[in-house]
This record gives sequence, structure tokens and C-alpha cells, in this order.
Amino acid sequence: MASTISHPVAAVAIGALFTQHQLPRRFWLLGVACTLLPDVDILGKLAGIRYGDMLGHRGLTHSLAFAATLALVFGLPISARDPSVSRAYLIFYLFLCTASHGLLDALTEGGLGVAFFAPFSSRRYFFPWRPLPVSPIGHIGLFTPRGIAIMLREFLWIWLPSLGTAFVACLIRRTMARRGR
Ligand SMILES: [Zn+2]
Repeated sequence: MASTISHPVAAVAIGALFTQHQLPRRFWLLGVACTLLPDVDILGKLAGIRYGDMLGHRGLTHSLAFAATLALVFGLPISARDPSVSRAYLIFYLFLCTASHGLLDALTEGGLGVAFFAPFSSRRYFFPWRPLPVSPIGHIGLFTPRGIAIMLREFLWIWLPSLGTAFVACLIRRTMARRGR
């Protein structure tokens, strides 16, 4: 996995792309939760589930099917209660946030790959280019040499592109709003 600090950064970048479309910033927190939930599969280890199993780490909960299910489970009731929210955008936003977790994990250089197509296929995938180090699950000793090395690479390959995307999205939105006045 990428670290638990860096996965949520993707939610901010994706959220910045969606605020224009009736998706207020209060949903960013839900998006952050969705970026972290796939790693709930580590609890399976306590139940004796092996890493390479369908329910093992980077298995079903890292799949696109899980991302779609989670997006529907959260998105449908919220959008039903709040008609000011665009149902389609909320569900799509939550899907992207959840799916981003598996995509980032597939960019790491260790462990097993990600079962993107579970439960239909148990095959594990990595991207051909893997610039991210594997971060220990849970707490990283941030001020240890290894922790600093991990954070530097995540800053370069996750934080900078994500915050750059958010910045450009805000800039474009402001420019468009000014032109619309
Ligand atoms: Zn993960």
C-alpha cells in the first residue's frame, strides 16, 4: 500500500474536479474514507485469510467491483436525502476515490498485485511502472530514515500530481466563473 497519509490526498484532487458539479466540499471527507476503506482487508489476516486469497490483502476490497458497490452504498442514500446533490456525480466521485486506492497500490514496488477484476478474476495486477515504495500497514515511523524516504517518494508521485491537479481545477473554475460574470 501507499501510506495511510497519502491515499486520502487523491480524494482531495478528485474532489477538486467535482466541486463544480453540485458536489460540495463536505463530501471530500467521505471521499477520504473511501480511499482508506479498501485496506479493511488486513483484518482478514486475523481470521487466517492468506494474502493471495480473493479476500486477502489487495484482493476483493481493492477491485473495481468493490469500488462501484461502495459508491452505491454511500451515494444512493445520501443523494436520496439531499436533493441538492447530483446523484450521478456523487456516486462517480466515490467510485473514483475508492478505485484510486487500488490504482496507487498497483504503482508500488512490492507485495502482490491488485485484483482489479475480483470477484470475476483472482488475477493480480501491477502497472509496468512502479515508482512508489511499499509502506508498512498502519503507522509509519515518519522520522526514521525509511519513513522519510517513503514520504519523499510519495510526495513526489502522489502529493505533487494530486495537489497540482486540484490547483489547476480551482484555477480553471475561477477563470470560468469570472468570464461568466
Ligand atoms: Zn491497499
